[in-house]
Amino acid sequence: METIRHYINGELRTSREDAWLDNFEPATGQVYGRIADAGRAELEDAVAAAEAAFPAWRRTPGPERGRWLYRLAELVERDLEKLAAAESRDTGKPISVARSLDIPRAAANLRFFAGAAGHFASESHLMEDGAINWTLREPHGVVGCISPWNLPLYLFTWKIAPALAAGNCVIGKPSEVTPVTACHLAELCIEAGLPQGVLNILHGRGAGIGAELVAHPKVRAISFTGGTATGAEIARSAAPMFKKLSLELGGKNPNIVFDDCDFDKALEGSLKAAFANQGQICLCGSRLLVQRGIYDRFRDAFVERARELQPGDPMEEATRQGAVVSAAHHEKVLSCIQRAREEGGEILCGGEAVQPKGRCARGWFIAPTVIEGLPRDCHTVREEIFGPVVTLAPFEDEAEALTIANEVDYGLAASLWTADISRAHRMSRELETGLVWVNTWMLRDLRVPMGGMKHSGVGREGGFEAMRFFTEAKNVCIRFEENEG
Ligand code: NDP
Repeated sequence: METIRHYINGELRTSREDAWLDNFEPATGQVYGRIADAGRAELEDAVAAAEAAFPAWRRTPGPERGRWLYRLAELVERDLEKLAAAESRDTGKPISVARSLDIPRAAANLRFFAGAAGHFASESHLMEDGAINWTLREPHGVVGCISPWNLPLYLFTWKIAPALAAGNCVIGKPSEVTPVTACHLAELCIEAGLPQGVLNILHGRGAGIGAELVAHPKVRAISFTGGTATGAEIARSAAPMFKKLSLELGGKNPNIVFDDCDFDKALEGSLKAAFANQGQICLCGSRLLVQRGIYDRFRDAFVERARELQPGDPMEEATRQGAVVSAAHHEKVLSCIQRAREEGGEILCGGEAVQPKGRCARGWFIAPTVIEGLPRDCHTVREEIFGPVVTLAPFEDEAEALTIANEVDYGLAASLWTADISRAHRMSRELETGLVWVNTWMLRDLRVPMGGMKHSGVGREGGFEAMRFFTEAKNVCIRFEENEG
């Protein structure tokens, strides 16, 4: 039994109340560990530790803070195999995905913001009539970072790294569904000798310790990634205290394939966009829109390829589709598929739970599912499912593609597949999404703003956007005499 402990004031601890949650392996449906469940006492301890660490950490020069993050990046890379195996077991994702995406990206996040800590500079503005402004960027103090279960270490480090780089002390709350790699990271922080209290990690339920963290008066900013409904709840709780909020929420992203695309590349990219990580990525292209001229051919090829993506044991090297993350999520995704049937959708492939043979026979697997023929205003087409389910619909022209793409409440990402660069420019300007990819999907540069419009969130992560979020701007205006005397 693996035991997941909190990381408070530089040490691993259990909860004072001796409260525990079960940790499940999605591929088998079995409990394989226990998770310390944080309460008020652990939160107060973490806040006290972070407050005590803050004065020294904020005074530590940026490049030196960066050195700690570089060291952590090295340790994550050293332990890549161990962390990838842990992530795969905890989430149900294929080991190949954890090894090539999750853990390398976690190291890259730490390294990227290690560099940013040394490059983040104050701006200055000279006034012609004898004054200079310089704008300090000061850390907030104690901040909360709450991350979801789909890309656990990847998204956890994406938040804590800029928060620490900017000089804040952090209380992190990973998802209780996938806590293991955050606990391993705590062990690496201890090995690296990170000053105590600078980073604290509390485990437990979102609605419990997560909500308490958001409501704590000494926590000055919250960076949250998760579902839109949870984001709304967090905003309700934090807004009256005027906390700084960064909300990265759900998506229902259009993947738009034009007649003139490179067919094979569009097919490959669309499959990846639909089913990567079992469709459990906020950026997944879950609405596949295909222009009428190639619709039938594209649909047939897409369905054929989706059928080949049979889920299997995530620990096996050849597996490309793993389990979904929890029993509750398994049930939710299957009920969404049932709803799609009731809304008039035709299931072209998948649509059911899968039981691989052997040790995974009781795991939470769902066959990649493609649904056609749904009305544009139905629930299935408008609401995020966050599983291996894609809806397919034809469109006539650019104008119709845009209307369909923009008519949902979400506005996170869109992909376009076209050979016409002018069309790509026109569409990119009009799409109501924070991110647009042209002839690719999920190609990420850590310097660019990442986040959504409309119900997909508030604020942007990435690069200096994240460093700005984790700091307060303070302008100092100094008058000086132009002429002596
Ligand atoms: P949730 O919103 O359920 O949870 C996200 C995190 O918030 C978890 O750590 C959760 O803890 C915690 N939490 C839950 N309720 C509260 C609360 N009331 N107060 C404070 N914290 C809380 O999302 P999921 O974990 O289910 O993740 C999937 C969602 O995340 C999808 O909708 C997806 O689109 C979105 N997402 C968005 C991304 C983006 O960048 N825009 C990227 C990745 C995912 P616990 O799990 O322990 O309950």
